Amino acid sequence: MAMNRRDMLLNGTTAVAAASLAGVAPRAAQAQARGAAISWDREVDVVVVGAGAAGVPAAIVAREAGNSVLLLEAQPHTGGHAICSGGNVPLGGGTSAQRKWGVVDSPDIVFRDLTDWTVVETNGAPDYRFNDREIIRAFADHSVETFEFLLAHGVVFVDKAPDTLGGESVGNSVPREMHAAPQDFVLIQTGKPAEPEMRARMSTGNGVMQPLVASARKLGVEILTSTKMISLHREQLKSGAVIGLVAESGGRRVNIRARRAVILATGGHTTNVNFRRMFDPRLTEEYQVAGMPWSEQDGSGEIAGMEVGAALWGLANNTLEFGSRITKPGNIGTRYGYVNLRWFPGSEVFDKAGATGLRVTDWQNVITVNMLGNRFYDETGRQFGANDYHDINPYTPGSYLNAKNITWNPQNWLNAAMAGIGDGHNGGGAIWAIFDSAAVAREKWEPTPPNVDFANGFFFQADTLGELAAKIKMQYQRVPMPADNLEKTVARYNRFVALGRDEDFGKPGPLYPISKPPYYAAWCTPVLHDTRAGLRINAECKVVDMSGEVIPGLFSAGETAGGFSLHGLARALTQGVISGKNAAVEQVKS
Ligand SMILES: Cc1cc2nc3c(=O)[nH]c(=O)nc-3n(C[C@H](O)[C@H](O)[C@H](O)COP(=O)(O)OP(=O)(O)OC[C@H]3O[C@@H](n4cnc5c(N)ncnc54)[C@H](O)[C@@H]3O)c2cc1C
Repeated sequence: MAMNRRDMLLNGTTAVAAASLAGVAPRAAQAQARGAAISWDREVDVVVVGAGAAGVPAAIVAREAGNSVLLLEAQPHTGGHAICSGGNVPLGGGTSAQRKWGVVDSPDIVFRDLTDWTVVETNGAPDYRFNDREIIRAFADHSVETFEFLLAHGVVFVDKAPDTLGGESVGNSVPREMHAAPQDFVLIQTGKPAEPEMRARMSTGNGVMQPLVASARKLGVEILTSTKMISLHREQLKSGAVIGLVAESGGRRVNIRARRAVILATGGHTTNVNFRRMFDPRLTEEYQVAGMPWSEQDGSGEIAGMEVGAALWGLANNTLEFGSRITKPGNIGTRYGYVNLRWFPGSEVFDKAGATGLRVTDWQNVITVNMLGNRFYDETGRQFGANDYHDINPYTPGSYLNAKNITWNPQNWLNAAMAGIGDGHNGGGAIWAIFDSAAVAREKWEPTPPNVDFANGFFFQADTLGELAAKIKMQYQRVPMPADNLEKTVARYNRFVALGRDEDFGKPGPLYPISKPPYYAAWCTPVLHDTRAGLRINAECKVVDMSGEVIPGLFSAGETAGGFSLHGLARALTQGVISGKNAAVEQVKS
C-alpha cells in the first residue's frame, strides 16, 4: 500500500514539523500522532531490522521468549557483512571452548581488558580508552551466554584451542578467538560448499550465519527479504515510544506496528559517503567497502534513530588510527579488494563484484602511485595495527609500563595514500599498483577476466608506461595521469633497485625493476571495513536520546550502535542477544 499524505504526517519523524507547517498546534499534532491513528499494514510484537550478526540472534532470542517476530532485510538475501566475514569469533569470559582447552578467563578479565587505558598501538593510538564502561560490562557479562547460544543454534567451531588469528582489539590477557566451520553450507563467495578437506579447518562467516538463519526460520521468525526500513514511528518527537516503522518493498511503503519494540541492527554506515565523512572528511566516494556487494551499510539505522531524537556515541573510536576500519587492499585490479574477501564466478553477486582480484603476496612486486603517477610510501608498509593477546608482551593489566614498552613505529601507508594530491580536494583519489610482466610471472597471476576488471576501469594494460598512464580513465581518477610523471616515477624506482636503496620512502632493499612489458595498472585504493561509532545505547541496548533519556521501544545492536571499539562479530552477536532479551519484555505504554 502506498503511503498517503495522512500516513506521511503520522510518521513520527515528520508529524510535528508537518503539522506546524499546516498551522496545527503542536500539542494537537502530538495527540493526532498516536499509534491508533496510523493505518497499520502489519502488527507484531518485535520488529528487527537487519538480518546480520546482531539482527538474527536478536530475532531468535525474542522469538524464543514467546513473541511474534518480523525480521526485515533490505537485501534479497540474509547474512549481512557477517556472512562475508572470516568467522573469527572472539568471545571469552570462560566459554565452554576456553574451559575445554584450559584457558582461564572470566567476565571480569574481559571487562578489565577492554577498558585498559594503558594499551596502545605502535603509533600511540589507544584501543580501549574510549570504550563506554556500561556497554563493555554488559558485553563481558553476556559473552559466555552468547557463545553457548551459538552452539545451541547450530554453529560449529573448528576443534582447536582458542587463538589470536583474526582477532582485533579483543583484549590482551588470554586467547579468545574461535573459528566457525563452514559445515556443508554453500559458500556465498563461490556458490559451492567448501572442499571436503577444508570443512573441518576453515573459518568462515557462512558457518556463523547460515545455521543461525536456519534456526530463526525453524523457530518461526518471519524473515522479509528485499524489505528496507525507511523510518521509525515515534509517538512524539521528544517523548513517547517508538511504536513501529515504515518499510519499503518492491516500491511499496507499509506501516508495521511493533507492540513491544523495534531493534535497529542495520550494520553501521560504511557505505554512506556523507555519513562517514562526518567522522573523517577524507572518506570520499572512491573508498569501497568490504562486504560489498553482498550488503550495504548505509547508515539507515543511525539516521532513522537520529530522526526520532537518538544521540550518537563513542565517536572518537571511529577516527582513531587502529584496527581495520580502513584497510590496505589485499587484492588488486578489482573494485572490492578487501584482503580477506574474494568473489568468484558462481557467487550470486559475482556480476556486481566484477572480478575476483589478484592477491598480492609480496609488495616488492609492485609500486603504488597516486592519480598523478607519483609514489607516496614504502609499498611494503602496513595498515594500522590492532591489539590482541601477546601483542604487548609482557602485558601487565593497567600498568603504565604497557605504553612505555611499545616501540614507536607508525604504520602510515594508509595516511599517505589518503593524503591527496594537493589540489584542495578531500580524499586521496584513486591509488594504482603499477607492475610489469615479470611481476605477473613471480606472483603467478593471470591478469585476465574474471580475475581483473577491465570493463569497469579497475584494471589497465599497455605496452609502454606512457600508454598505460593515458589509458587510466575511470570515475574516481579525477585528473589525467601525466604520462611523463609515471615514466619518471618508474625510472627513479628502477634506479633505487639498482642502488639497493629506496631514497624516497625507505622500502627495504627494493628488489625488482619494472621494465618488462606489458605494463599494468591495478586498482589498489584503501578499503573501508567497519564502523566503531553509532547510536547511543545503554547496557540493555536501549537507545538513548540527546538528553540522556531512554527512547522507549527502541533498541540497537552491532555496528549501528556506538560506545564499543571491538571489531566485529563478538560485539554484534552479543548485543543481538542482549537486545533480543530486553526487547522481548519491553512494555510500551501508548
Ligand atoms: C569481509 C569481512 C570479514 C570480516 N571478518 C570478521 C571476522 O573474522 N571476525 C569478526 O569478528 N568480524 C569480522 N568482520 C566484521 C563483522 O562481519 C561485522 O562487524 C558484523 O557482521 C556486524 O554485524 P551487524 O549485525 O552490525 O551488521 P551486518 O552483519 O552487516 O548486518 C546488517 C544487515 O542489515 C541490513 N540492512 C541495512 N540497512 C537496512 C534497512 N534500512 N532495512 C533493512 N535491512 C537493512 C543489511 O543488508 C545487513 O544484512 C568482517 C567483515 C567483513 C566485511
